[in-house]
Amino acid sequence: MIANNQNPFIAGNWKMFKTIPEAVELVKALKEKSPEFNDAELVVIPPFTALSEVKKVIEGSTIKLGAQNLFWEEQGAFTGEVSAPMLKDAGCQYVTIGHSERRQYFDETDETVNKKIRAALAYELYPIMCLGESLEEREKGKTIDKVESQINSGLEGLGSEEISKIIIAYEPIWAIGTGLTATPAQAEEVHSFIREKLVEKYGKKTASCAIILYGGSAKPDNTYSLLKENNINGALVGGASLKADSFVQIAKEAIKAYKEKK
Ligand code: PEP
Repeated sequence: MIANNQNPFIAGNWKMFKTIPEAVELVKALKEKSPEFNDAELVVIPPFTALSEVKKVIEGSTIKLGAQNLFWEEQGAFTGEVSAPMLKDAGCQYVTIGHSERRQYFDETDETVNKKIRAALAYELYPIMCLGESLEEREKGKTIDKVESQINSGLEGLGSEEISKIIIAYEPIWAIGTGLTATPAQAEEVHSFIREKLVEKYGKKTASCAIILYGGSAKPDNTYSLLKENNINGALVGGASLKADSFVQIAKEAIKAYKEKK
């Protein structure tokens, strides 16, 4: 099980939206269109309550399932938490870890991100590790320092074999849910830094296959220009993944950009 970036990777983070019937309706609409995006890896990331029903709908399609979080212990007296084997059991292949909303509202740190990544890998779930700077950090010229320290701490102690199973999502906090998007040049600057950092730490082979996503108000009208950049392999989409039309359009724009840059 190794990640590769031969096709664009588009993941829809539904956050705390969608009841079970709403989730099923959305994923059915995506499934209907799925033959149109065979050339992309499409992942839906519903709330925990909808995972099993969404899994039933995507059966037999190319759409994959992800979860929004996990706790690092396998089981035990941890009321309110969900473990990696439980997500595996529900049919997940991916799990987002360290989303900025979790860091901001639920006190996640680079240390807990590292523990969660290890737990995910132990159960053959691909972690989607989220990182990115705040507006204040960007304005102070600290973007690269922030991203570097999140990579160093979040991935601490992991070797290149493990890194080859981790997806990194660069999500500038000031662009998440705000309608502001990093320009392609701003995003590419950070993405290329991340790839160089992976080369330095894990070697060229691992780094060149790594999937590095952009997240932050990705929409149908900005996906193409972002994904044309060399080091942007896909998008982690929040708001625009809640409607089938916009998510499908994003996937199509991504495929178009990817074909042109190949
Ligand atoms: C996200 O949830 O990771 C995200 C990037 O949200 P949005 O696309 O709404 O900014």
